[in-house]
Order: sequence, then structure tokens, then C-alpha cells
Amino acid sequence: MKKIAVLTSGGDSPGMNAAIRAVVRKGIHEGLDVYGVYNGYAGLMDGKIKKLELGSVGDIIHRGGTILYTARSEEFKKDKSQHEAIRQLKDLGIDGLVVIGGDGSYRGAAKLTEKGFPCVGLPGTIDNDIPGTDYTIGYDTALNTVVENIDKIRDTATSHDRTFIIEVMGRHAGDIALFSGVAVGAETILIPERTFELNDVVEKLNKGIKRGKKHSIIVLAEGVCSANELAEQLKEKYHLETRISVLGHIQRGGSPTGFDRVLASRLGARAVELLLQGKSGRAIGMQKQEIVDHDIIEILKQKDPLPEGVYSLSQQLSI
Ligand code: ADP
Repeated sequence: MKKIAVLTSGGDSPGMNAAIRAVVRKGIHEGLDVYGVYNGYAGLMDGKIKKLELGSVGDIIHRGGTILYTARSEEFKKDKSQHEAIRQLKDLGIDGLVVIGGDGSYRGAAKLTEKGFPCVGLPGTIDNDIPGTDYTIGYDTALNTVVENIDKIRDTATSHDRTFIIEVMGRHAGDIALFSGVAVGAETILIPERTFELNDVVEKLNKGIKRGKKHSIIVLAEGVCSANELAEQLKEKYHLETRISVLGHIQRGGSPTGFDRVLASRLGARAVELLLQGKSGRAIGMQKQEIVDHDIIEILKQKDPLPEGVYSLSQQLSI
């Protein structure tokens, strides 16, 4: 193997740049030519591929977003488009591809591998919803952004004796909500992995009010419902007034934490090592501090579990 390429795909996440840098620098260190594919799979089909040098990835380890840009492409899901993508890579003599993205991007990487083009996947998403890794690149940064912002909202909740519903990202996963909720001492945490009765939520709020607690924070994962819907239900059914705050895209941006930079660097370097060893169709992750890799198809069949015990801890501490 002499030439490899790297792309970012799906939603961006802080630390993607650190991962790109690691792939490029490790690749060059190993004597490879490394190419960057711009705009994800859409750019791959269009041949937006450029050779990257050591300097191309200078001064980016601390930046959010992705210098390679990212995109979503329905077109790429067609066999014909995947063959076209492979042709673009082969025309440049590239024989390995590192895909940084979420589970949708992994599906794309699996399809290219099935068609004979070696790919490996790196988990780049703030949602922490990829099986086979304890953390995804960007999750730690997003968690810290959420914590910082809820702390600020808590000041207003306290000053005005209000109940706030704070909607956080995570798609179908509750990791950001659960961990930020524990970190800010939220009174209630609502995540899609656990069912709840609205009655219990209200009872808990009222219990707090009875013992003199006039403000509350409800952290709501977007995978449950929207903050608006929850606020309306609380008002209509229980005459409970709340304020809402939807944190939105601030959660996807910003300078990556030290943790995310090191994670991205370790995963990016391993991606190059695997391709050099002739391994493909692998999803790389970190489990118990070790860098590991699993069959990407198997990973796509699994469901990422919530870390044991954290939900029950959150219940015990928020009485
Ligand atoms: P993420 O990677 O963050 O989960 P998406 O689910 O939007 O984001 O997926 C990113 C891209 O991966 C899609 O726009 C599409 O180009 C590609 N992709 C997703 N699913 C498939 C699939 N089943 N086959 C081929 N490509 C796919």
C-alpha cells in the first residue's frame, strides 16, 4: 500500500481535525502519500481529492469542525455511485480509505469494503452512540459544552425560581443528557433508553417545591421529544409553568478537549496501521483505555449500551 485517503462524513464533531492530522502525519511517517477527500462521500464521487502534506494539517489540532468539510449524500447509497467513488480513488492509485463519521458513514465504508475497496472507520460524532468504543470523537467536548451552558442557565433558574427544560442533542442516544445531567446535578434526566411517567416527573418537582426548592433543571435528550412538547404537556396536564432552552448546534462546535484530541490522535494512527497490515472493514475504538478494532458490519448490528449504573446513580443523587 502506497497511497491512502481520509474523509469526514455526516455530522461534524470537535476532534475530527485532530483525527485527520493523525492519519496524515502517521501515514507520512510510514512512507505513504495521504490524500484528503473534500465534502465526504459527495466529494468522493465528484473526485474532490487532494494530496495532503505535513503542513496541510498544521495548526488544526485545536480547531473544531473539519478542514475537509463534511456532507450528507443520498446519491452515495446507490451501488452505481459507490462504484464511481472507487473509480475516483483507483484513478489516483489510492488503495485504502479512512472514514471519520457516525454510523451512517460506517455503512458507506462497509459498502465500499464489500465492493473490494479497503476502508476503516473512526467514530466521529458527539452522540457517543457507536458500539465497540467507550467514547466517540467529539463526545467529551460536547459534554463539557453542555455542562458549561447548563451551569449558566442554572444561575437564571435560581434567580427567578424557575423550572427549566434543557433539550440536548444525542439523536437516539441519551449519553449527553445523562452525563451532563449528573454533572450539573439536574433534578430530572429524561433519556430515550429509559421510559418514564410524566406523573413521576411532576411528583418529584412538587416534592422539591414542598421542601423549599423553587427552581429545577430537567435535562431532556432530543431522542425523547422536543422541549416544546414536554413544556406543553406539563402545562396542559399539570398547570406547571416551565422555561425551555434548546442548546442546539453550539454542542457540535468549539475547540476539542484534551481528551478528544488524544483520542482522535490515537484512533487516527491506528487506522493507518490497520490499512498497512492489510486489514479493512474494521471499526476502530477505545475500550478500557486500549485502542481496539471490530468488524464494522458487526458493530452496525449492535446497540450501544449506556454505561452500567450511571442512570441509577443519577436517580439516587437527584432525590
Ligand atoms: P452519520 O455518519 O453522522 O451517522 P449520516 O447517517 O447522515 O451521518 O450518514 C452520512 C452519509 O453516509 C450519508 O449521507 C450517506 O452518504 C452515507 N450512508 C449512510 N447510510 C448509508 C448506506 N446504507 N449505504 C451507503 N452509504 C450510506
